[in-house]
Amino acid sequence: MWTTYPRCGIKWGMTITNQEMQKLWDLVKFSLSKKFSPESYKAWIEHSTKLTDVAEGKVIVSVRNNLALQWLEKNAKEQLTIIFRDVLGEGNVSLEVNQDAFEAKLPIKDTIPKIGNLLSQVEEKEGKMKKALKDAGLNEKYTFETFVVGNNNQIAHAAAQAITQHIGQEYNPLFVYGSVGVGKTHLMHAIGHAVLDHDMSKKIFYCSSETFLNELVESIRSKKNAEFREKYRKLDILMIDDIQFISKWEAAQEEIFHTFNVLSGANKQIILASDRPPTQIQNLADRLRSRFEGGMMIDIIPPNYETRVAILANYNKEHSPPLSLECLETIAVLVEDNVRQLIGAYNKVYTYAKITNTPMDRETVEKIIGVDQEAARRKVSVEDILENVADAFGVTIGQMKSATRTAEVAMPRQIAMYLIRDILNYPLERVARSLKRNDHTTVIHAVEKVNKLMTNDHLLRTQIVGIKNSILK
Ligand code: ADP
Ligand code: MG
Repeated sequence: MWTTYPRCGIKWGMTITNQEMQKLWDLVKFSLSKKFSPESYKAWIEHSTKLTDVAEGKVIVSVRNNLALQWLEKNAKEQLTIIFRDVLGEGNVSLEVNQDAFEAKLPIKDTIPKIGNLLSQVEEKEGKMKKALKDAGLNEKYTFETFVVGNNNQIAHAAAQAITQHIGQEYNPLFVYGSVGVGKTHLMHAIGHAVLDHDMSKKIFYCSSETFLNELVESIRSKKNAEFREKYRKLDILMIDDIQFISKWEAAQEEIFHTFNVLSGANKQIILASDRPPTQIQNLADRLRSRFEGGMMIDIIPPNYETRVAILANYNKEHSPPLSLECLETIAVLVEDNVRQLIGAYNKVYTYAKITNTPMDRETVEKIIGVDQEAARRKVSVEDILENVADAFGVTIGQMKSATRTAEVAMPRQIAMYLIRDILNYPLERVARSLKRNDHTTVIHAVEKVNKLMTNDHLLRTQIVGIKNSILK
């Protein structure tokens, strides 16, 4: 976001009024407020810092106390340097404890009237950026800076970054797939963000396939098809999330196909995200499938333990007081498949620690998260599991419970057994009965087989994790 600051005309050696300094600091704080959690911002920045001098190649930020100083040195110094380099051309930032700055009024300095105007230009630009993000459908929070690169998303991340450098060239379309909560949406927003940061005039639009559908339906209803087309076909980057749902609508497939052709013909960028690869999206027209597959397809898998700890540690930086490493590691052990749930679990533990003011050890964390997972489990029924599996594989529950042994039915049946065992922890006999089997060894066999498949077959693992997530949602 820092690149949105134009040089603001303040030069070293100039003196500026306290009022202008205050205004400049307010702007800088505004940017910092977006970078840190509201809690960190309130605790360490909002009323604990003040810009007290901008002179002789040096920026002096006064800090209320030592604790705040330490926090800022560790977490904000680098960003402050970048911001001031952007605003002033170079940034040599010093943080110092100076309580007086918060009590006594500082003497008024000479005025340079031009600076006021320039500062309001900076403000205006910030406002424009905010509007550009909003118009593009982008969430301010999802940026590359907050995205942790790990074993699971390295390639997707590299491709995403490459796109920001060469829009519409190498990876077009980019098709990102993976189960719920692995960071697909975050990554798409980050691309949009980075491109706008660099060039605010780029026309970017992010939407879910549902929004696309709704707009299409509305445009047909109100006879505004031409406007709809105009909007989507003049973009530099079109991003459609959860594209798997598009298969339900033939008209939408048709429209996307044409939009696709127009955009890629003009070397514009298309980015799609889905919970499964194109081959597994049912009822997807062949010509659309081959378009989806025609660029770069990359999957994001659930992060491994180290990456989960890294994600938590990154998130932890925004919280004060932070949770201990032991807590983070415990959460990372307990929540395996889904970053959204990982962050949800962190929030629960953090809130609990804050409210009860007790130190969190491994057992307490286990209790907080464990209790919660139990609650989620209790709400899930066997029927939920069967329905989700049947849906995912295009079979019926009746077929899964029948005697049929064809592979198309046997495989979903085994996966259903695996998931009933995994989610509900039912005894083997009860799992067998749920699928009208007499023999519990069938269940043992099924669980072993699915376990093995999940280790070897990456795609299947993604799919099963996806089904599990949608059951537990
Ligand atoms: P998906 O679109 O794949 O379902 P999201 O992009 O919505 O997943 O991610 C779910 C949550 O997890 C979001 O809050 C997101 O910021 C966070 N998240 C996912 N991956 C990462 C990552 N690599 N680093 C930091 N946060 C992440
Ligand atoms: Mg998503």
